[in-house]
Amino acid sequence: MRKLRIAVVGGSLGGLTAAALLRDAGHEIDVYERTPVPLTGFGAGIVVQPELVRYLLERTETTLEQISVPSSAMRYFDATRGTLIGEIEAEWRYTSYNALYRRLLAAFGIERYHLGEALVGIDQIGDQVELRFARGRVVHCDLAVCADGGASTARKRLLGIVPRYAGYITWRGLAGRGDLSSDTWDFFDDRFTYGLLDDGHVIAYPIPVVGEDGEMAGRYINFQWYWNLPEGPELDELMTDREGIRRPVSVHAAGVQERFIDEMQTRARRQLAPEPFVELMVMAAEPFVTVIEDTDTPKMALGRICLLGDAAVTGRPHAAAGGAKAAANAWALAEALEENDGDVEEALRSWEPAQLEQGRALLDKVAHMAGLLQTGGPFLPGDPACRFGLPR
Ligand code: FAD
Repeated sequence: MRKLRIAVVGGSLGGLTAAALLRDAGHEIDVYERTPVPLTGFGAGIVVQPELVRYLLERTETTLEQISVPSSAMRYFDATRGTLIGEIEAEWRYTSYNALYRRLLAAFGIERYHLGEALVGIDQIGDQVELRFARGRVVHCDLAVCADGGASTARKRLLGIVPRYAGYITWRGLAGRGDLSSDTWDFFDDRFTYGLLDDGHVIAYPIPVVGEDGEMAGRYINFQWYWNLPEGPELDELMTDREGIRRPVSVHAAGVQERFIDEMQTRARRQLAPEPFVELMVMAAEPFVTVIEDTDTPKMALGRICLLGDAAVTGRPHAAAGGAKAAANAWALAEALEENDGDVEEALRSWEPAQLEQGRALLDKVAHMAGLLQTGGPFLPGDPACRFGLPR
């Protein structure tokens, strides 16, 4: 196959999976990542889907046991009354952003992973793509893979599309074994727990802690508490950090204004009936907040430029499948380039329809789930329409 010069913009789960696969196929790859230091994902938990871990399991020595922890059940609580609605068997495994990122970065290597490079401009000029970065670097390549996330600069530049706020935010946090009483630890460990409310929901599940070397060093309980909050001054105030900067997506742990953490904990004591939920919210170190967004796109392939993962379609997180979609886009891209013998435009044309279809099916699925989860249900135990994963 013709060897291509490929620039990948965004060095997170989608970008790194694409970069490693295309490098393995013999192409010359450089990754350009906006953040100046390696990503940490702020300890976020991720439910394992086959597509998400496929590269690590098939192309590296990594085993599922090294990057994830299991659970045996899924429990559904009425979080206002404190009653158990139902429990089903559910053999999911949970990993963390850090566990995946560290191993994907190790697999790709750091030689051609360029930190501190924020894309600001992109155009196709003849049979080359020109990418312009904020610090002055200009890159020319045969194919640009834009995996620059939900607020994608490439998508905005090329299609004028910006993310759409879904009307709610999520509080997120982690607690270690030493932070919680043993009863509360046992309540959440080994299971995925839903706490259902009339105006939102809580989820909690165990995730691995990984050390600097990428090895597992224990577990946390990870939670997300989704609050309905219309667009307007209240949202703007919450999303403004301690430096006074209005953050578009997340206010990270050290940046959340103290009074909002107090408000979240006070609301937990007032609104959440099962005591372990309250203890988790109050004891979690450094809670942080993220807005929930949806974005659709009419196109993922534009000549020699493609949008991949959240940079194309961003879905609400309820199906735990955004990372899996990004990885699936990357696998399909590598296959399309191989099938089309490196003919970039033809490969992207053949790649695009199935990716768009899958993205839209995921948007429909998560909108359906959100309609139940954020308005008081009924969110029924084991409902196949609400099962985690990409729509099949
Ligand atoms: P991202 O991970 O968003 O990465 C984009 C990268 O591009 C970042 O590194 C960013 O710094 C970089 N970048 C941005 N702009 C530029 C620029 N101009 N120039 C250069 N670089 C740039 N998914 C799952 O599969 N399972 C789950 O359980 C799950 N849970 C989630 C829970 C929550 C609360 C949220 C919000 C999301 C969850 N997701 C989950 C979704 C998942 O995190 C995303 O779908 C996934 O990270 C998308 O990967 P990506 O590589 O496309 O984009």
